[in-house]
Amino acid sequence: MTRKQPFKKPIYVTRPLLPDLDKFNQKLQEIWNSQWLTNNGKQHLELEHKLQQILKIPYLSLFNNGTIALIVGCQSLRLSGEVITTPFTFPGTPHVLTWNNIKPIFCDIDPVTMNIDANKIESMITPQTTAILGVHVYGTPCNVIKIQEIADKYGLKVIYDAAHAFGVEINGVGIGNFGDLSMMSFHATKLFHTAEGGALLFRDHNLKARVELLKNFGIKNEEEVVMPGINGKMNEIQAALGIVLLDYIEQERYQRQQLVETYRRYLKYVTGISLMPEISGVISSYQYFVIRIEQELFGCDRDYVHKQLKEYNVFTRKYFYPLCSDYPHYKYLPSSSSTNLLVANQVAKQVLSLPLYGSLNVDDVERICEMIIEIKG
Ligand SMILES: *Cc1c(COP(=O)(O)O)cnc(C)c1O
Repeated sequence: MTRKQPFKKPIYVTRPLLPDLDKFNQKLQEIWNSQWLTNNGKQHLELEHKLQQILKIPYLSLFNNGTIALIVGCQSLRLSGEVITTPFTFPGTPHVLTWNNIKPIFCDIDPVTMNIDANKIESMITPQTTAILGVHVYGTPCNVIKIQEIADKYGLKVIYDAAHAFGVEINGVGIGNFGDLSMMSFHATKLFHTAEGGALLFRDHNLKARVELLKNFGIKNEEEVVMPGINGKMNEIQAALGIVLLDYIEQERYQRQQLVETYRRYLKYVTGISLMPEISGVISSYQYFVIRIEQELFGCDRDYVHKQLKEYNVFTRKYFYPLCSDYPHYKYLPSSSSTNLLVANQVAKQVLSLPLYGSLNVDDVERICEMIIEIKG
């Protein structure tokens, strides 16, 4: 059998969306003219307002990155003690708890959505628990209804790491409306970005003033500093990049949707491969396209496919592997034991994130699928 030719140029898992440079230059000219570079300038206000509408959320506060946003989010809700979260996430999620002097308690994940398993949360609650921190992994929403029910029953706060969930809606409701607050990341690798950046999304009017103070050193006015805040401000250049990029998001999403449909068509019936769930009523973020490879059925394991694809010049990512509960800082926590995290340990060995970005062609995706099938042999 003749093997497929490798791609001439490397295909990476993602590429940052970049606007037409002239359009960005025009914005830079505006900023230069205004001589206002940060602290709630014109670009900042405009981006905040536009995102509020696009994401269908009453309150949105911009940040210099998603991690600082989530650190401030925990502070704004005065979380302490223990917070129940998922080990199947980016390192930033549990680290934010650690930076708040909060102990992360890892809960196992749902085998289908790969998000925190709402049915297992209750058994992890102790008198120290103050909140549940869910992650909408790959943009798939957590079981937001069940999680809120548990939180209400025990008087807990609910926060979401919605870094993957830009534009996700459940039956027309913006994803940021669930829980007490949600964080979004606008890092360069995210669908919508400001090179580095992020936001907190929430509905409670009372939270707004506290979040604004916390992200600007607690400075209330020239003479009053009312709390120990941090510097979480997004600057005008970041905000301007975001404003310009907003004009490209719909097109990018459309192109990614075509690619995802191609992946699905080709890989749906391949024995040993399972695809990310499609949930009715949910608008997807098209942030990642992730498959799971079951070694027993597929014939070889995820690591082998990952390595072989490199031979074809295709660079996939084992996203999320290893689990956060296996990092040196967390692995001795009782909740990190592999018996507590059976599903998460299995899923982490199976997942492979495939290339997905708007400038990739449908032909390229077809070729990547054929390569995967060829590796299966
Ligand atoms: C990107 C990401 C973050 C971190 O966001 P930054 O803006 O890079 O600080 C946190 N959690 C998840 C799930 C992410 O993907």
